[in-house]
Amino acid sequence: YETPIYNFSAGPAVLPESVLRTAQSEMFDYNGTGFSVMTMSHRSDVFMSILYHAEQDLRQLMDIPDNYKVLFLQGGASAQFNQVVMNFANGFKRVDSVVTGNWSEIAHSQMGKLSDAEIHLAADGKQYHYQNLPPVSSWDISPDSAFVHFVINETVHGLQYREVPKLPEGMPPLICDMSSEILSRRVNVSDFGVIYAGAQKNIGPSGATIVIIREDLLERCSDRIPDVWNYKSHVQRDGMYNTPATYPIYISGLVFRWLQSQGGVAQMETINTLKAKTLYDAIDSSGGFYINNVHPGARSKMNVIFRTGDTRLDELFAQESTTRGLRLLRGYKSMGGMRASIYNAMPLQGVEALIEFMKEFQKRYG
Ligand code: PMP
Repeated sequence: YETPIYNFSAGPAVLPESVLRTAQSEMFDYNGTGFSVMTMSHRSDVFMSILYHAEQDLRQLMDIPDNYKVLFLQGGASAQFNQVVMNFANGFKRVDSVVTGNWSEIAHSQMGKLSDAEIHLAADGKQYHYQNLPPVSSWDISPDSAFVHFVINETVHGLQYREVPKLPEGMPPLICDMSSEILSRRVNVSDFGVIYAGAQKNIGPSGATIVIIREDLLERCSDRIPDVWNYKSHVQRDGMYNTPATYPIYISGLVFRWLQSQGGVAQMETINTLKAKTLYDAIDSSGGFYINNVHPGARSKMNVIFRTGDTRLDELFAQESTTRGLRLLRGYKSMGGMRASIYNAMPLQGVEALIEFMKEFQKRYG
């Protein structure tokens, strides 16, 4: 292509070019084995080593304490909505669920389906029309609940807890859906009972789901849970209870190494902050041509939503930007408008190219 292509997809999303090139070069012959990672046994030494290093590199990047287990499961983040309840709510009467947008709303609606526990609506962001976030101090949570579940970055509504939530002493474990921001900024893993994330935004291809679990919580996993849904059976078999998503894990491992080469999560955080600020500044300085109604303190640094206020212009924007190499900017189906997902692998140049196009588009239609 003459013009560089910038992929703003919300997920599956852009991956570093160097990662894809490495995967391409190793496609037919991984490291002299004579065959592809896709076609080797998950129990082979070669794949076990890929999995081991992926886990170690993730541990290094996130500074995951030793009393946390790391699993690469399947089923996506959606499966976790139920799996956390199945495994950790056993014997409890209540689960606290924070609703802040599309994904936590879905989680909330699903969590009670295989459990007798009351799924208590601990906070409801609907009161802010999902344009602001209920502060952690306002969450109605109980020390007797099995856990508190929330989504730290709402991918559809473009909302993010800018300050990483932390619960006071004596509160139940905090379970975080980190799908659309994992590895984008520093977090203190020990503030969470569980962190989970579908890989397909900030990590790799879809198919692998990262689950980071504080060890003591595994004691809650009852033997009556079918093994395939039981975290403990996955941990006891070193993540090899059944066939994991081998190829997505391999690509994720390449992304972890790429992140290390870029200076790790702290460096990503700096770049992501700059990218987001540059883009929101462009929206806010457009004299109202581009609109983002999210409260400034809750704006996502990963998923930047905006619209023109005229659906025909939004459609034109989506079409014309595509011809300029700016891809997949159409907003989520129920939201309309535009959404620029600017995950780790989106370079600052991509954001700058988008802003240049936004200005030019405004000149023509504003
Ligand atoms: N949670 C969040 C925050 C998400 O962004 C998504 C996917 N867009 C999901 C959950 C659902 O993930 P999956 O498709 O992997 O089930």
